[in-house]
Amino acid sequence: MNCTLLLVGTELLNGATLDTNSIYMAEELNKYGIGINYKLTVGDSLNKIVDAITFGKENSDLVIMSGGLGPTDDDLTKTAVSKYLNKKLLVDSDELNELKEKFKERGITFLNKNLKEVEKPEGAVSIKNDVGMAPAFFIDGIVGFPGVPRELKNMFPKFLKMYSEEMNLNIDPIYVKDLLTVGIPESILEEKIKSLFKDPNIEYEFLIKDYGIIVRMQSKMSNKNTVEKIKEKIYNIIGDCIFGEDNERLETKVVNLLSEKNYSISVAESCSGGMLAEKLISVPGISKIFKEGIVSYSNEAKINRLNIEEKRIDEYGAVSKEIAKDMLDGLNSDVAISITGFAGPTGGTEEKPVGRVYIGIKVKDKIVIFEHNFKGDRNRVRAKAVLQSLFELCKILEEDE
Ligand code: AMP
Ligand code: MG
Repeated sequence: MNCTLLLVGTELLNGATLDTNSIYMAEELNKYGIGINYKLTVGDSLNKIVDAITFGKENSDLVIMSGGLGPTDDDLTKTAVSKYLNKKLLVDSDELNELKEKFKERGITFLNKNLKEVEKPEGAVSIKNDVGMAPAFFIDGIVGFPGVPRELKNMFPKFLKMYSEEMNLNIDPIYVKDLLTVGIPESILEEKIKSLFKDPNIEYEFLIKDYGIIVRMQSKMSNKNTVEKIKEKIYNIIGDCIFGEDNERLETKVVNLLSEKNYSISVAESCSGGMLAEKLISVPGISKIFKEGIVSYSNEAKINRLNIEEKRIDEYGAVSKEIAKDMLDGLNSDVAISITGFAGPTGGTEEKPVGRVYIGIKVKDKIVIFEHNFKGDRNRVRAKAVLQSLFELCKILEEDE
């Protein structure tokens, strides 16, 4: 069983709105093992929508549309489906009454054009919209949902349940296994493990996310054991760079480890400018252990806030392992992290190029300073420094007994 996703809306083409609906739908479709053959995006143009429906119908079992179910003139999805199927658009009187009731409840005046929201091609089945106005409709292997994400999320699971029962789908969900790594570039990662990627029933991908570089394996649930076996082999090769799987995140892992040990944490950031504190503070429960985050960006701040001697900065430079160490000394908690580096695009030296970052980590009496040369633009360098610092801290906390 496979489908085509058809996203409707000029706003999706001109950059005004980011299509997140297809990401949500893909995750839900995985649960039913329904593959996606194509994902098409089309503007609010009747002929183009009809063309896209035609393509989707010719190339997949099911066409799933989102967008264009509203009351305004640019909402053309149902008109396009009726044109494609050569069916009339009709209004069901019960649905119309229900819609009028919703308007009344919300104190909104019902206009004639709102009638459009309950129109559907003759013979279509409706899916009840508990959170908005227009119901979704399903007819002849074409289903249409409103673009509003909240409404789609209300109706999409209901549709999938109904559809899988109606089609008697032999559900073989899609199994996704993500291994989350930090510290090795994607190309080297691939070199190290690509010999394991032979099974044609498994899709392999490397994904660069702000929370790490992800090795993704995706397959039918019936192949789960094979995926798990390959996973173990990957651990044997690059295990020391893997910090977790699937929905695990480094900052959550760090906060859990600190909470278990009842260690307080403070951070002093130069080039990362608060990104590290932001990541840590995004984790619920951090309030019990997070003491302070100092953005000591200028030399003056390093001197005044962290008590670093000016002559040490003159001697070693603000981007140095010595100052990373002094930044740790300026903090007062069980655990501390410092980050100082050249994020670029300017500011590096011959000896210390852009991308050079020093990360200091203190856990009780133990202090370690790491030197890194990160690649990428300013914000990539900053994000990599933050990720790497959490990763190093994680490793030290795991070893710390
Ligand atoms: P529509 O049903 O086309 O009137 O869309 C209503 C609203 O839903 C739009 O203004 C967007 O804010 C949102 N929307 C539409 N399509 C998408 C999409 N593919 N992903 C995320 N949001 C969307
Ligand atoms: Mg629209």
